[in-house]
Amino acid sequence: MFLLPDYTFTDSLPRYEIASAELVERTHGHGFAWFGRAASALYYAYRVAKSRHVLAQAEVIMPSVMCTTAAHTALLTDCTPRFADVDPHTALVTLDSIKARYTINTVAVVVIHLLGNMVDVAPIAEWCKQKNILLIEDLAQALGAVLPDGKPAGSYGDLVVYSFNKTKLIEVGGGALVANSARIAERLNNILVQYPPESYSMYDIPSLGLAYRNLHHSLVTLLRINRSTPDQIATVYNTAREVHPMEQALYIRPMNPNINFDETWQALPARLEARQHKAEQYYDALFRHSAWKLLAGWQTSQVCWRFSLLVNQPEQAMTFSESVRKDGFHVSNLYWAVNQLMRPSDTCPNADYVSRRIVNFWVDDSVDSAWITRCCESILHHADLLTVDAV
Ligand SMILES: *Cc1c(COP(=O)(O)O)cnc(C)c1O
Repeated sequence: MFLLPDYTFTDSLPRYEIASAELVERTHGHGFAWFGRAASALYYAYRVAKSRHVLAQAEVIMPSVMCTTAAHTALLTDCTPRFADVDPHTALVTLDSIKARYTINTVAVVVIHLLGNMVDVAPIAEWCKQKNILLIEDLAQALGAVLPDGKPAGSYGDLVVYSFNKTKLIEVGGGALVANSARIAERLNNILVQYPPESYSMYDIPSLGLAYRNLHHSLVTLLRINRSTPDQIATVYNTAREVHPMEQALYIRPMNPNINFDETWQALPARLEARQHKAEQYYDALFRHSAWKLLAGWQTSQVCWRFSLLVNQPEQAMTFSESVRKDGFHVSNLYWAVNQLMRPSDTCPNADYVSRRIVNFWVDDSVDSAWITRCCESILHHADLLTVDAV
């Protein structure tokens, strides 16, 4: 096993041993580091990518449809996030949309396998090699998933990011970064030895996080109802980011060594299978209706993070979600296009299309088959809202 930095967890390793070894083995990795969050893993991945070039202002290309974490952590390393548009049918980046954001300052590309739908990552990896930039694969929502060509997710990234925090496929806490070559592992090790993640126990981390979530929801709502332009909103968002106290404390932290990780790790296959059954249940109940299109990449990836659909009437998406929520079911509308919050000049029309239409439902341990049956009844009951006549 190749745990990084060289001295990590020497006292408590046995409770991490199986998971560490299997995660490295899966992608034939050369080094593995534990963190308190996937956000910290992204941060160190960017630092590695940046360390390979001498540039005044490095840039990282990332998806426009995602949570804001990958962009915030890039800014913490003084890399500029550049947002690639998505395919409107999959909500995923493509080689062409990534190429459109390339400049001589690009040091890395982040691909995110979103909601269990897998990016066609092989041609992107090939292109990154030609350009001598790093490919970072984010598996926070795709742990244990299979790529379209049958390889395990994470097989193509130079660096692979994992999250084990709440709402993810394993929820014991923490995150990890796998380096898939000896050279990258060595760079990562050197950076970790020199700049290890610190614990900021003097900050109220939940409040810092809440401050961002409230800001995000508020600004996304204004964008959704077309009351403000992305330029106006981005000005507010980027200014708020500058005054946010201690972003570093929110995103960068070490793994808690007291977690018994291996036990949860070994339960993963059974958990993924249970989620798959739940996704199939939604699919069978909903696929015939013409009010939406289902995102069904989970059928081939074998991992469903959320069951998602794109409704045909975006103006009604919020009313529809709220109606199902009032019936007692979990509903979310992730994700809003991050370029509109942080860099509207990276225009992403397809990301806007997806953001206004996406509705997500739960397949985790908090729901069972009877719950999903009732949830689908509620969804179908409110589908009228999404037909043209109702608008
Ligand atoms: C949740 C998530 C993260 C951040 O994970 P943390 O462990 O909470 O830092 C990063 N990327 C994606 C795609 C995520 O879904």
